[in-house]
Amino acid sequence: MASSSPIFRFAPSPNGRLHLGHAYSALMNERLAGHLQGDLLLRIEDIDLTRCRPEFEQGIRDDLAWLGISFAREVRRQSLHFDNYREALDRLEAMGLIYPCFCSRQEIKDVVRQREATTGIPWPRDPDGAPLYPCICPVLGEAEMRRRREAGEPHVLRLAMYRALARAVGESLSYLLFDEAGGEREISVDPRRWGDVVLARKDVPTSYHLSVVVDDALQGVSHVVRGQDLEAATEIHVLLQRLLGLPTPRYHFHRLLSDETGQKLAKSRLSRSLADLRADGVTPEAIRRQLGFT
Ligand SMILES: [Zn+2]
Repeated sequence: MASSSPIFRFAPSPNGRLHLGHAYSALMNERLAGHLQGDLLLRIEDIDLTRCRPEFEQGIRDDLAWLGISFAREVRRQSLHFDNYREALDRLEAMGLIYPCFCSRQEIKDVVRQREATTGIPWPRDPDGAPLYPCICPVLGEAEMRRRREAGEPHVLRLAMYRALARAVGESLSYLLFDEAGGEREISVDPRRWGDVVLARKDVPTSYHLSVVVDDALQGVSHVVRGQDLEAATEIHVLLQRLLGLPTPRYHFHRLLSDETGQKLAKSRLSRSLADLRADGVTPEAIRRQLGFT
């Protein structure tokens, strides 16, 4: 990177219209980048080829322009960079840290239910509440896994968490958390809580975790500002950064906005989009004021 000024990024997915929660995140990025005289980049996270649509991407650009947020450099669209993610997967595979998994969601659910019934003990869950992968495929053995993969059976690629942690022994598994006032605190992470996470989905050669780590490094992102809902997943990102020899950005996790009913705002709920608010005559100044950015 030629520039040594801090680099921030706002990274929405074009699978719906932006709402106030996105505006809050974008404005928080703008504010913190402003404090540090940093550049703010826009990244379009569109690896989900079935749910992401060009009209939503245009909507994102329109909404952000309307809010008056400007971005440095050109936009990075993840779907144009699958080769970068594949390369990272190849490196992890060469280290023996990933394996194919042919299980369906239902199969995993059934095995977990069965083990819970047998032992009477709840199966461990990851920080997002999903059951840890019960390692069904690894017992197939290398040869059988290779055979099924070569036969073209649909599969995801999982990180072998314990092998990955063994490989990262001696590395500091931590990141710097920064606050709005410029204070910093070192946070240690424990990625083992996530089990053998999926790094490549069945349909695309990547996952949220992998592409976000690769992109932050390729874009020279030094400061990540995102919602508290992604705080726990940062543990996985730090581990991947160590394994791939990539720098770890500083992180800030902002609060999540709630609607009148106390529910987190989400595209899937009936939270009003910025486009709706705009059509109703709400001004960008009013939005900034409402969200505390004046
Ligand atoms: Zn499996």
